[in-house]
Amino acid sequence: MLEKVLIANRGEIALRILRACKELDIPTVAVHSSADTELMHVRLADEAICIGPAGSSQSYLNVPAIISAAEVSNADGIHPGYGFLAENADFAEQVEKSGFTFIGPRADTIRLMGDKVSAIAAMKAAGVPTVPGSDGPLPDDPDEIVAIARKVGFPVIIKAAAGGGGRGMRVVHNEAALLNSVQVTKSEAGAAFGSEVVYLEKFLQKPRHVEIQIIADGQGNAIHLGDRDCSLQRRHQKVIEEAPAPDIDPHLREQVAEACIKACLDIDYRGAGTFEFLYEDGGFYFIEMNTRIQVEHPVTEMITGIDIVHEQLRVASGLPLSVTQEQVRFRGHAIECRINAEDPHTFMPSPGTISTYHPPGGPGIRVDSHIYDNYTVPPFYDSLIAKVISYGETRDSAMARMRQALDELIVQGIRTNTALHRDLVRDAAFQAGGVSIHYLESKLEDH
Ligand code: ADP
Repeated sequence: MLEKVLIANRGEIALRILRACKELDIPTVAVHSSADTELMHVRLADEAICIGPAGSSQSYLNVPAIISAAEVSNADGIHPGYGFLAENADFAEQVEKSGFTFIGPRADTIRLMGDKVSAIAAMKAAGVPTVPGSDGPLPDDPDEIVAIARKVGFPVIIKAAAGGGGRGMRVVHNEAALLNSVQVTKSEAGAAFGSEVVYLEKFLQKPRHVEIQIIADGQGNAIHLGDRDCSLQRRHQKVIEEAPAPDIDPHLREQVAEACIKACLDIDYRGAGTFEFLYEDGGFYFIEMNTRIQVEHPVTEMITGIDIVHEQLRVASGLPLSVTQEQVRFRGHAIECRINAEDPHTFMPSPGTISTYHPPGGPGIRVDSHIYDNYTVPPFYDSLIAKVISYGETRDSAMARMRQALDELIVQGIRTNTALHRDLVRDAAFQAGGVSIHYLESKLEDH
């Protein structure tokens, strides 16, 4: 096993990683900004090192400072969590070149998946279903662009190969707007991501977001842990997730999951990862792969009983996966609500001091959170303060437990989106299951 793990992140995921390390008897090093000395995991870690001032660029994104911290603390592994440097191939490469283990895939895998054009090509080759489109970068010749778009059929979406975070995309409804849109997206992509490469896809009108969790040990073993539905989103940010995705044909799910496993083996994937799909009219369409642990991983853990962070640590230690596909048992249903420190109406961040925090409890309830009474949520980072996760033998029972859990949750002193969640778990369409990725935004507009 790894002998000491440096946690290069903050907040709830840093605490989640710390808990997994403690269970496996791996000593931990917390690296943190000067604004984060009071974080729960900083207090609980075996060692804590301040790596810079509050701004992320000088702390959580500061590669030399993180690597120096690993050197002085004698850590042998670095867990990047999600966000920050988790999908930065150059960071993964530097970590490994400096003699440490990056707890994630190899740098070249991150690079392959970070370029959406090469990611889609790799997926297609493995038999993963993709969105009909240009199958590669758009050419420069306007006539060729028009021909591709006609063949795919309008509406289409122009996407930056290097895009991320829901940016660098433009929907085009007709031929008249096509060439101009391609030009604008190219120059935006160049400015934002340093690459003008764009590609084209069919624009799906009312898809759901369904993703498949995989884990691979890079020693010839790869398994899937089923799917999740993350369709409740606002501005491409997930708000509620659940596993399994409701109303998906089990044979189709199995078929797509097997293609994902084949893709993992083809690219010699190592670690945890997620294949993200749009799902519409009974079809799965791959859009991208995330090469890290995800915020919503707990819903998968609840229905499989598998600790994904443990598996990450095992694989990074050079051990094989602890389970085979045949041993994975799916049972029940799980839902996760992301509790954010934000104004419930304007969605503006609401940092500040929490005067009272009372987490919910009872059967089937899990709360992943780093907050506590008198903790001050700093204004510099993501507003996620807690994940409330419910489990039940059925979707209805998970939903009922979530309703109760949200009613029990108390966070005072700052504003949170708890009221929105209380509303959503009573929403008839969400309760019925299978709403599209546009549902939440259209519901919010109606209010
Ligand atoms: P990013 O890396 O920026 O998150 P994605 O490729 O995952 O980019 O796309 C982000 C979101 O954009 C998707 O979740 C979906 O809402 C929308 N989107 C992307 N491609 C399509 C498409 N072909 N049809 C419809 N919506 C799309």
